[in-house]
Amino acid sequence: MGSQTGIIVQNSLQALLKDETFLPNLQGETREQAFASLAAILSTPNHVHKSFLRIPLENGKVVRIPAYRIQHNNTLGPYKGGIRFHELVNEDEVTNLAALMTLKNALHEVPFGGGKGGVVINPREFTEKELLLICKKYVQYFSDILGPDKDIPAPDVGTGDREMDWMTAEYKTIRPGQPYRGSFTGKSVVNGGSLGRREATGKGVYFTFRYLLSDFIKEQKSWLTDNGNQFAKTALECANRPLKIAVQGFGNVGSVAALEAYRCTHLQSNIVAVSDRNVTLYNSEGLNIPALIDATVKNQYDLPTTEEQLAQFNIKADILNREEVLYLNIDVLILAALEDQIRKDNVDKVKAKVIVEGANAPVTGDADRILNENGVIIIPDILANAGGVIVSYFEWLQGRETQFYSEEEVFKLLYEKMTNTMSTILPQYFGDPFSLRENCYIHAVMKLSTIINRQGKL
Ligand code: NAD
Repeated sequence: MGSQTGIIVQNSLQALLKDETFLPNLQGETREQAFASLAAILSTPNHVHKSFLRIPLENGKVVRIPAYRIQHNNTLGPYKGGIRFHELVNEDEVTNLAALMTLKNALHEVPFGGGKGGVVINPREFTEKELLLICKKYVQYFSDILGPDKDIPAPDVGTGDREMDWMTAEYKTIRPGQPYRGSFTGKSVVNGGSLGRREATGKGVYFTFRYLLSDFIKEQKSWLTDNGNQFAKTALECANRPLKIAVQGFGNVGSVAALEAYRCTHLQSNIVAVSDRNVTLYNSEGLNIPALIDATVKNQYDLPTTEEQLAQFNIKADILNREEVLYLNIDVLILAALEDQIRKDNVDKVKAKVIVEGANAPVTGDADRILNENGVIIIPDILANAGGVIVSYFEWLQGRETQFYSEEEVFKLLYEKMTNTMSTILPQYFGDPFSLRENCYIHAVMKLSTIINRQGKL
């Protein structure tokens, strides 16, 4: 498991070990041993699967591409997690992402375990035919360990509904006559996907932020004013003024979160910057997000990078470097690109008072500590970006029932689940010295430990 996730899991267990009201059946030496055993279970994956996919390219060359499926923990149900296509995919990264899935599902009471997949390619360098072959080979190589009750992949960076449709078809071919609809989630709606799945993560990301700064503050204002810690002070300050928001990453998660912010009537805010792998676009008066989404759809999912392109799409913005989105004078920064974006070496330049982790692990452990010491509210990945896996769960259920929910029902269920988690975690966060991330981890580790104990595995 990656160091930050591993350290916070260990710290959560240390805190729980001292709390004798938790698992009171375990006492003395037995308690120490049981917690050591929990630490071992939760900080190592159950299985690491690696293969080299043999792919004949259209130019006649044959390549062998490293591919992973890592199954971290299945205490709560079948392994569940996306498949990433990216040139920087490696075993440590996939293991860490799989562990985050275990914790995320436990936190939000989703009956799945944690897994993750990865293929070491830049998908932009492959033709459609080659990508189809890569998807088919991935399923062929890993078919024994995948399945609706074993391990259910979904899209991640570099993959989407097209890849999930291809993989589901291959799974169905390999396992004729067996249930296949629940083998992959994030499929296209015509092919058994759920309405609302594409938008679910971005909507959930924005919802956590909106819930914290609007709904929760309205309900708890006097308690927060009288009893709250330094994070409550930050929240109350932010809730009282128009907010400047910036979004890093303008793909599936970032663009939907930006659109939600743009349309939101609960908070007064302006999206002053968005960025992607090439560029930051900035407008102190606020960007036209629908026009930017339209531009990216017509520009191979990249933001405009030149004055000509901006004029073509009638967008008013200054063109800045890709990294500048992180250092602007703003209130809220939504991170929806990749991991390790805010680190020890650049954290001092970050001015946002609220950071929302749409991406997985975009803030390193060192940076996280410094930001928390400064009273910055960080809504962590396992809390903020769970919308995708929650609606994946609804897709899996719909596949089993062959009954389909309306988009309205999907979002209602999504917000109910996220509200439930937020309303459990936030009162503790604003009243104790732990960061929001630590509170979420403690809650998830408590849930997993209780069940592992009940199952007699300690
Ligand atoms: P995506 O591929 O659709 O979009 C990624 C975006 O980030 C693109 O706009 C890309 O140009 C941009 N980007 C890449 N490198 C960048 C850099 N160095 N600086 C700034 N921008 C950069 O991916 P996505 O599905 O939106 O996922 C984004 C993040 O959210 C990932 O960390 C992913 O693991 C996480 N996540 C996604 C989902 C989901 O349902 N899609 C669910 C949970 C978590």
